[in-house]
Amino acid sequence: MEQKLNILAKQSILVMGWAVVGSQVVTYAIVQMLAPDYLDTAVKVSPMVSAFVAAPLTYAFFRQNVKLEESNKQLAIANQALGVETEIAKKEATLDPMTNVLNRTHFVRAIEENRSTKDKAGFFLMLDADNFKQVNDTFGHAVGDTVLLKITDVMRSTLREGDIVGRLGGEEFGIYLPGVTRQQAYEIAERIRLRVEDTSVEVEQGESYNVTVSIGAVFAAKQHNVTQLMQMADRNLYRAKGKGRNQVVFDAYLSKEGTYQTRYQSA
Ligand code: GH3
Ligand code: MG
Ligand code: MG
Repeated sequence: MEQKLNILAKQSILVMGWAVVGSQVVTYAIVQMLAPDYLDTAVKVSPMVSAFVAAPLTYAFFRQNVKLEESNKQLAIANQALGVETEIAKKEATLDPMTNVLNRTHFVRAIEENRSTKDKAGFFLMLDADNFKQVNDTFGHAVGDTVLLKITDVMRSTLREGDIVGRLGGEEFGIYLPGVTRQQAYEIAERIRLRVEDTSVEVEQGESYNVTVSIGAVFAAKQHNVTQLMQMADRNLYRAKGKGRNQVVFDAYLSKEGTYQTRYQSA
């Protein structure tokens, strides 16, 4: 700002200087042509007159520009603050405030966008913490919250950039893995399950608890929308719970004998 004012002051003085010199030259030319007898006096008077007129004008111009500079500066500060605020608001609107993964609405939107812009199909996983009500009831809600954060940490550290994670609600999360094979998707789900199982949360002085998760997964075929994928994954999740929890169930299907079979499931 200081530097800008210095430049502005120098410019103002320069403008005034040129006004004086310019009027001197013009006065000289005109008076010599029309009244050469008065040339001496005119040349003496002209700079005084032009300085007299130009000085207040230049000063007014300078003041105006200083004000303009100040309001520009204020505007830049306000714009910057607005940018930060907008960024925060955007984050708040798209992320789950506790776990910082996408909230349900934006999770669904992110998958839809991915599926509409990329040709590759993917796999949809639904993950749910096991016996979570019991965790809350036994150790308290705060421990429950810590457990949820540990689960999100595991998901984040296991998944790659481009994978999409969201909180569907409560202790339930969704994961979309674009462009992976069935085998890869299964391995990722298993890795998450095992890493969660290995993660202990301190519940009391010296005591810890290891939560487990169940995962139901489906291939995200083009003909199914995200709501349908969620329903199908939820059915597999339900089967994982039925099989004793701490399980991954992929592609459950009803056999001829009427029992549910899975091609991929935890050992
Ligand atoms: P299951 O293994 O069948 O999934 O049993 P569950 O106990 O995990 O499932 P249930 O649906 O009976 O209980 C879910 C519990 O999760 C109940 C609810 O109070 C708790 N919960 C939901 N959101 C939060 C949260 O943000 N923090 C904590 N601490 N608990 C939560
Ligand atoms: Mg649960
Ligand atoms: Mg649940």
